[in-house]
Amino acid sequence: MNKTNNVSIHRLLQCNQKCRLKKKLARQEKKNNQNNNRTPKPTPRPTRTPRPTRAPRTQRPSRMPSKRPTPVPTTRPTRNRTPRPTRNRTIPKVVPTIGGHDKWIMKEDQLNLIFLDNLSKDSMWRDALNYSFKNWSNPHLLPSAIIMSLYPMSTNLDQDCPPLPDKIVVCDDDYGSTKWKGVNLMYLNEDTRIVASLVKFNNFYGHDMDAEEKLYTCCHELGHGIGLRHWDEDFANQDMYNCMDYTNNHANNMFPDQSNFQALRNMYKGVSRRNLKAVGTTMDKEKERLLQRDLDKYLSQSIDLNTIDLEVWKVIETSDHDEVYQRRLDNGYSIRASFLLA
Ligand SMILES: [Zn+2]
Repeated sequence: MNKTNNVSIHRLLQCNQKCRLKKKLARQEKKNNQNNNRTPKPTPRPTRTPRPTRAPRTQRPSRMPSKRPTPVPTTRPTRNRTPRPTRNRTIPKVVPTIGGHDKWIMKEDQLNLIFLDNLSKDSMWRDALNYSFKNWSNPHLLPSAIIMSLYPMSTNLDQDCPPLPDKIVVCDDDYGSTKWKGVNLMYLNEDTRIVASLVKFNNFYGHDMDAEEKLYTCCHELGHGIGLRHWDEDFANQDMYNCMDYTNNHANNMFPDQSNFQALRNMYKGVSRRNLKAVGTTMDKEKERLLQRDLDKYLSQSIDLNTIDLEVWKVIETSDHDEVYQRRLDNGYSIRASFLLA
């Protein structure tokens, strides 16, 4: 018994030792496994360690969060819109134009340009006139030396469309099949100084014109009345998106653009708007009377391009869409007539 007991005890001890060994081995294996599992972790840790250094960087943009993200989306759309601003930005210094512009005589470095509405009652041109005048007289775009005003004629409609010194008189009538739908007649001193200006619209053709063509025609003739020449005289080329460009696409060219106003700024070196003051006419009464007599004599005449007297009128230019004539007067003045053909 003792022997068997000893054996069993011995086996038990062996078993215990083996079990302990097994347990020890199992623990070590577990530890190793744990260590093995942990060893890959340190490798990401070093990668995590630089992250904290990035963290402050991520905090920095948080100081100006709106500045960094916003330029990215905003710059992209402006690239899509660049055609418009670049057109305006590239134009200011060199303004494309045909011929030199004509300047109104200024008084004390400023120009109070008055438009007189002598259109017929319920005229088909009145909306176009009001809209075009509003566009041309924009005080934010005009040179500071110029103030434009639009008034109705003080008297009732004058069928003769009377030219007046220092004014742009706007008229309409059924002038018949004269070939022109709009004309600007300019009375010039020394060839390039405007003294008076007439704008006429021919209702004979106006009845068949849509609102876009009327607006284009009106904006164009007022531009001549102000003193601007054509920007381009090719009807078939790309539109310049201003009404001094010749075009068949009236809807694209119904308004003045930045380049038209830049031309005016180049012509009229501005005085500060705060220094502007009411300036009356500086012309003495006798000079004004003589001038009015000339205006009545010459500018009041309506011109039919079918029968224009080429011995009196010198041809400046002709095309399928426009004709420009000039006639010199004995007193040193001259008249320029710019016709937009129907
Ligand atoms: Zn023209």
